[in-house]
Amino acid sequence: MMQSLFISFEGIDGCGKSTQVKMLMNRFEKESITALLVREPGGTQISEEIRDVLLKNRNDKMAERTEALLMTASRAQLTKDIIIPNLESGTVVVADRFKDSTLAYQGGGRGLDLNYLVKLNDFATYELDPDITFFIDVTADEGNRRRNSGISDRIEKAGIDFQHIVREQYIKLAHMYDQRFVTIDGTLSPENIHKTIWTTIQNRKNS
Ligand code: ADP
Repeated sequence: MMQSLFISFEGIDGCGKSTQVKMLMNRFEKESITALLVREPGGTQISEEIRDVLLKNRNDKMAERTEALLMTASRAQLTKDIIIPNLESGTVVVADRFKDSTLAYQGGGRGLDLNYLVKLNDFATYELDPDITFFIDVTADEGNRRRNSGISDRIEKAGIDFQHIVREQYIKLAHMYDQRFVTIDGTLSPENIHKTIWTTIQNRKNS
């Protein structure tokens, strides 16, 4: 039996996170390891209601701090109701985005003070950190290209700039939290990336 493990996936939009999360969940199933997937924002009724508020106002007049508070409020409910109890019962929990997304998007992208966000995150997560954070790294151009399936004329310049700042922030976070961050070149094949991820998890389990 595998001891409980909390794994998060991070990276800019289009980096290949969902692809890897899916491959990893299939792998756990094949190996008969109980694993739970959580996606932010959402995952509990309260978190879903907060998600509605976030999405309805996404392009409207929501203040950046409100966005950060709502994101972390949703995370607090998910952490308390789902993540912590599952980890305590020995289940592996895989999070498609967790606290580092706040630091990268609201911190880097929207320029909010990182010190505030780190504290807010710790408060929201009952100071829970992932055991391993896989940062799938691609350039903003590559992420955009993948999201738009090659139709590059629809990409707004501001969109790419934003993704670029978010990526730079992730690179900074990988240095800040080098104990748990594993940076993977997202331009490798999905199979190769999965292999690295699985090997890392195996090594962690055996250490
Ligand atoms: P994310 O969840 O990070 O936004 P996705 O997993 O949805 O990214 O992938 C975005 C697109 O890139 C999809 O069309 C997917 O098939 C493709 N893709 C995923 N991983 C890779 C990879 N390693 N190399 C090339 N293309 C990839």
